[in-house]
Amino acid sequence: MAKRAANPVFSGQGTTIFTVMSALATRHGAINLGQGFPDEDGPLAIREAAARALVHGPNQYPPMTGMPQLRRALSTHAARFYDLGFDSDNEVVVTSGATEALTASFMALASPGDEAIIIEPAYDSYRPALEAVGAKVKAIRLEPPHFRLTEDALASVFSEHTKLIAINSPMNPTGRVFGRDELGLLAAFLTRYDAYAVCDEVYEHLVFDGREHVPLISLPHMRERCVRIGSAGKMFSLTGWKVGWVMGPAALVSVIAKAHQFLTFTTSPALQLGIAHGLEDEMEYTLALQRKLQGKRDYLSAALQRAGFNVLPSEGTYFLTVDASHLVGNSDRMFCEFLTREVGIAAIPYSPFYGETAPKHLIRFAFCKRMEILEEAARRLETHFAPVSAK
Ligand code: PMP
Ligand code: GLN
Repeated sequence: MAKRAANPVFSGQGTTIFTVMSALATRHGAINLGQGFPDEDGPLAIREAAARALVHGPNQYPPMTGMPQLRRALSTHAARFYDLGFDSDNEVVVTSGATEALTASFMALASPGDEAIIIEPAYDSYRPALEAVGAKVKAIRLEPPHFRLTEDALASVFSEHTKLIAINSPMNPTGRVFGRDELGLLAAFLTRYDAYAVCDEVYEHLVFDGREHVPLISLPHMRERCVRIGSAGKMFSLTGWKVGWVMGPAALVSVIAKAHQFLTFTTSPALQLGIAHGLEDEMEYTLALQRKLQGKRDYLSAALQRAGFNVLPSEGTYFLTVDASHLVGNSDRMFCEFLTREVGIAAIPYSPFYGETAPKHLIRFAFCKRMEILEEAARRLETHFAPVSAK
């Protein structure tokens, strides 16, 4: 038996909470409001375009930075929605999901010993991906119920050692959509400390109540120090396809392409052509999805409130958060296991989104499910909790 230790960044990890809760939901026949994936596939025309490409080709390695059609469509999309100009030959790289784009960006921008900032509650891949490249991770925390990004929090972590910050807006799990005021504060710190921002914008179109998603890179002087990451999975309800991208200044994107070439090198050409078709012809689907999701958020939120939960504001994404202090005890994870087993609804505890001393009272529910599923969830909540809260 070889005794040499494997890399502790990974050997010390459990299985992701999303996988754990989905497996538990299956075992107990629970409604899965845990892992964030829609239960209806996105446009048939996109799937047919990909199927045609599978049958008729191309089926060999596509260009390393992505199919030109998709890179052009991504560049047009950024111009249409944000008035941003990206050269599709030098400033856009297609990746195997946003997860790969994030890891490739961290590999390309951070060197061992550099400080990298994450904002907790943080998406679970950020910390291990940064630590694997040897970055020293510093976390700031946003406080419920409003999870605002403040100058004090930024001042507490930025220093001359800061190389980059990973920022996610609209934000998983909080549902925050950062405003221009908060992004402006961050921009000032990035300039002062000559740091980069890796902007995870996978939920860019899923914003509610007339809010606007503002890419940090669109703020003055940010063009040279930000990269923005997106995911077709979220845009077109095709999360299993794992088609993502990163765009930004050529000086940064060219190095990210070097990391990408050694991570996955390329992404399925058929899926890329399907998504190119989606960006060209199916954006109506995405805009309608935004409206539908807002209604589903409101429905689930009302059901949870009737069941006695304190529902926090959700401005975007697939998710809403409840403060369940009155029920949770000292383990949010155990409470989610109980919800799955006894109430028949799986949800995600917040604690895995923190490095240490996580709050224990916050629970995330996904509302990107068919209405009849949400209605059944509401019935189960009512059956289980309403009699208690009515006392
Ligand atoms: N970032 C965030 C904030 C996410 O919620 C997710 C997961 N859906 C990803 C990145 C990963 O996206 P993808 O499935 O395209 O890798
Ligand atoms: N992003 C999805 C979520 O937050 C899960 C992705 C995954 O399972 N890795 O639920």
